[in-house]
Amino acid sequence: MLVRRAKKKNPDSFVVVTGCLAQDRPEETAALPGVDLVVGNTEKSQLLRKIFQSYPDGQGLSGRPPSPTAFPLSPWIGGISRFDGHQRATLKVQEGCNFGCSFCLIPRVRGEMVSRPVPEIVEEAKRLARNGVRELVLAGIQLSSYGRDWGLKAGEPRLAPVVEKLLGLSGIQRVRLSSYAVADFEDALLPLWKSKSGLCAHLHLPLQSGDEGVLRAMRRPYSLDHYRATVEKVRESAPEVGITSDLIAGFPGETAEAFGNTLERIREFGFVDFHPFPYSDRPGTPGEKMPPKVPPAVIRERMNRLLDLKGECLARSAQRALGKEYSVVVERNEKSLQAGLSEEGLRMVFPEREGWLGREARVKVTGIRRGAAWAQWV
Ligand code: SF4
Repeated sequence: MLVRRAKKKNPDSFVVVTGCLAQDRPEETAALPGVDLVVGNTEKSQLLRKIFQSYPDGQGLSGRPPSPTAFPLSPWIGGISRFDGHQRATLKVQEGCNFGCSFCLIPRVRGEMVSRPVPEIVEEAKRLARNGVRELVLAGIQLSSYGRDWGLKAGEPRLAPVVEKLLGLSGIQRVRLSSYAVADFEDALLPLWKSKSGLCAHLHLPLQSGDEGVLRAMRRPYSLDHYRATVEKVRESAPEVGITSDLIAGFPGETAEAFGNTLERIREFGFVDFHPFPYSDRPGTPGEKMPPKVPPAVIRERMNRLLDLKGECLARSAQRALGKEYSVVVERNEKSLQAGLSEEGLRMVFPEREGWLGREARVKVTGIRRGAAWAQWV
């Protein structure tokens, strides 16, 4: 649909499709009307070269032959320099995954884990800071495994020294971790939370299921005990860290009892918030062939129960935040409203103010609306 829209808007456009779909189903993607070039994830470092070579006259979009130095060979394609008008930017530090969860396509379409070299990360962060970015969100497919491909052990500092370096850069006030995993958890992060170094007190720790049998069928690289021990370790060291999570409803073989265990674990772990997802088969994954499938109506019903519980979690978190002030980067929300994420991972909604999108604002939580924290500008 996006391809069609791009071509309709600009019939002369040269449409390149890249990413997981391009990697997994290149022929099918190339056959979509309007697609000029398909570049899989494994060839992304060659993206610019391929665009220039494939452009009709072989000379590139400018009409001039490209210079031989025009194409960076780094798999990180030189990174990015600006998120115009935005004070928060995502900085990719890791790619790929060596685990093999039975519902996930990522290892197939993104390949093995690769950690981005520290000097490259720092260079990109400096560029972003020069362009007004104040908060960096470190992202990766398997962020907790950062540095393991260099032979560093799970117990050794790997990402923590990078976070410290970034926090030492002029202009950078906060660093946030995107989705992080129990597997390969890095203890060296604990003192950074404890000392309020500028590492956001927020940990997104996907659980996916609160039932041991389902976790095993999912081939998740941890047990419930391992997950519980990690949560306890974080809470003991830095109680203010807000933990959020992801949960899947209706994985094959998930019985009513197993789903009940998930609801119990959500209550036990006291998530600030969590994202529920309905299970659906990803073609070619082991999960696709796993019996028995949970009927769609049951998945819908379980999703509704998860959504109700999410509302309870949010309302409890909002209650705790009542009367407190937060600095948040302003994001889009429904019409006439904007939203922001607290350092601890609580999403709050407030009336829209023009010109503030992407900028840092100070807001105060004044109530609870539709189960979420409702805030006012300070
Ligand atoms: S750890 Fe995450 S990325 Fe890796 S296979 Fe499992 S779900 Fe996919």
